[in-house]
Amino acid sequence: MISKKHNFGAGPCILPSTVMEQAAQAVLDWNSNGLSILEVSHRSVEFESVITKTQLLVRELLNVPDSYSVLFLQGGASTQFSMVPLNFLKKGRKACYLDTGYFAKKAIKEARLFGDVEIVASSRDKAYCYIPDNYELSHGTAYLHLTSNNTIEGTEMFAFPKVAVPVVCDMSSDIFSREINVRDFDLIYAGAQKNMGPAGLTLVIAKNSFLDSVNCELPSMSDYRIYRDNNSMFNTPPVFSIYVSMLNLIWLKEMGGVKEIEKLNISKARLLYGEIDRNSLFDGLANLAHRSRMNVTFRAKDERTGAAFFELASERGMVGIRGYRTVGGFRVSLYNALPLESVEALVVLMREFEQMVACANTVSHLESVR
Ligand SMILES: *Cc1c(COP(=O)(O)O)cnc(C)c1O
Repeated sequence: MISKKHNFGAGPCILPSTVMEQAAQAVLDWNSNGLSILEVSHRSVEFESVITKTQLLVRELLNVPDSYSVLFLQGGASTQFSMVPLNFLKKGRKACYLDTGYFAKKAIKEARLFGDVEIVASSRDKAYCYIPDNYELSHGTAYLHLTSNNTIEGTEMFAFPKVAVPVVCDMSSDIFSREINVRDFDLIYAGAQKNMGPAGLTLVIAKNSFLDSVNCELPSMSDYRIYRDNNSMFNTPPVFSIYVSMLNLIWLKEMGGVKEIEKLNISKARLLYGEIDRNSLFDGLANLAHRSRMNVTFRAKDERTGAAFFELASERGMVGIRGYRTVGGFRVSLYNALPLESVEALVVLMREFEQMVACANTVSHLESVR
């Protein structure tokens, strides 16, 4: 076993140690066939079976209907910010966006390069601490774009709009963490590095009829139909990322699938939010109803106390808990592979820290009255 830190990082995320071990072995000698996974042809029968198996696992774990394609791309979720409008924002139509945070804003900025974009609702007024749900879509809407989990602000959508227009969703940071109904969406995209595998792979799940609605020529690498028609092998796919994602999805299936991991994710989140609410030193940042189960954001009531807690946590081998630079405070990510024990260790430390601060305050109070 490898000795490990408690990794609360927001991405690339923690992966199960068994997956790491299998991946390490495959780099040295894949399936004992005398080749490394890094040097096999993506056209080999062996790798074709990997890509097929990974697609099947995605279908099985998320209950993807047959009328949808599962595609493997590169360029991260950020490339999807422009690829979606390039494919679907036609002349004379409008794309509607929900502005729920840092990544939604980035998606909006890219879409504006391609056509008319309307922000139908925004939670910017309150530092993105909630998910707005009161909005209307006008005629001629090409699609509505959502971000299911706002990785930086720590908010998550627990209900998705039932609307008459196609729905596109950035699920980078909560895909495979909870059950979803794929039929609620026309296109889902996610950078793999937050719950699926290592960086380098982007997962797209798209309704075929939505892809067929694209009726113009596009650069091949930006055309979803090309990926579909070539089984995601129009060019060299990210072989290693797909392989490790496959291992991770096998692990997830063995854990009981998305349904079971969701239960575990709920208990991890409950435990940590419970302590944030109980502990006199910290405040949660997100609205109660929209608290993310994947990225928990909070801050210390007192800045110096916060700095001291960072130090103590890193002494105890806890990494990745610093909030994003635009938000500050703490962000603790609880992705699928993060064990409950890591959350327990953090909660114990928060309690211990509260007592240490109370003692220190008593001592300094006694000194001041002496
Ligand atoms: C991390 C993240 C992105 C950016 O993903 P890249 O793969 O780095 O481009 C986009 N959206 C969300 C919700 C994210 O969490």
